[in-house]
Amino acid sequence: MKKYCEECKREVETNIITQKESYIVCGEEIEVDAQVLVCADCGEEFFCEELDNNTLLAAYNKYRKKHKLLFPEEIKRIREQYGLSQRAFAKLLNWGDKTICRYENGSIQDKAHNSLLLFLREPKNMRVFLNENEILLDERQQKKLYNAVGELENKTKINDESNLIDLYFSNTPCAENGFKVFDYEKTCAMVLFFAHKNTDLLKTKLMKLLNYSDMIYYKENGISMSGLRYAHHKYGPVPENFDILLGKMAADHIAHIEVLYDNGYEKHQVVPDSNIPVGMITDDELNVLKKIYEKFKDFGSVEISNYSHKEKGYCETKQGEIVSYIYAKEIELN
Ligand SMILES: [Zn+2]
Repeated sequence: MKKYCEECKREVETNIITQKESYIVCGEEIEVDAQVLVCADCGEEFFCEELDNNTLLAAYNKYRKKHKLLFPEEIKRIREQYGLSQRAFAKLLNWGDKTICRYENGSIQDKAHNSLLLFLREPKNMRVFLNENEILLDERQQKKLYNAVGELENKTKINDESNLIDLYFSNTPCAENGFKVFDYEKTCAMVLFFAHKNTDLLKTKLMKLLNYSDMIYYKENGISMSGLRYAHHKYGPVPENFDILLGKMAADHIAHIEVLYDNGYEKHQVVPDSNIPVGMITDDELNVLKKIYEKFKDFGSVEISNYSHKEKGYCETKQGEIVSYIYAKEIELN
């Protein structure tokens, strides 16, 4: 990208450099690795809204992580699991009309609000809270919420085996999972997206496609898509405990692996068993998935494996180590 440099008094080439920058978040100084656009000749910094926004987002995320605060989309998920509008949820909590809306759009919630939201994530807690505070909602809203809580409680009983997920997958946002709690449904949707696009998708290629999708989405949004952690493996980064995950997906009729034999070689092909649930993938996520699909559609498993070997995150880690999302900023797909 060319820019006019005030120092050099002419159009110059630009570079993006990484440097430490401090931001004040809720009165606290937070240091982050910021990407900055500079003049290739004299190093003068240029204003770049997109890069600045990414840095600010990273500072907010770092603050949230440090104070163990819920991320905006986690707050949204808590509200949506009860089928509440932002306004109705705020009313029930006796908060200002716009409070939930602000939190879901990235404002940082205060600690007391955060604790209450965390508490209400559990349907059984929501039932207790609702019993005490139902007066704040009108009758129709009360009834709807009691129904939603009841359904969730039943689901929890049935889905106790899904504690498997809590056991094997990370549930504290950090750099290793791209600051996101592992999201099984989202991961299923990602797998289904690629499996439907590509009718002879092999397992090894799928692992790379998931990795690139998560990394690029993280690079653009400061949070990963699936919350998966990726380990350094001989053939490139692979999602942690991927076989357990695929086993669960097969049991849930999401997708399964079919073993084929090709000239004496075993091939593990990914076969979808359902459609992508409507509304599971956001537009931003879909754009990233499409970009990754287009980039690698003609790559075989070996080619994409070799391609991933040159990534910095891969080069700087050893066999079995987790490849942190902090390396995502180094990935260039062109
Ligand atoms: Zn210059």
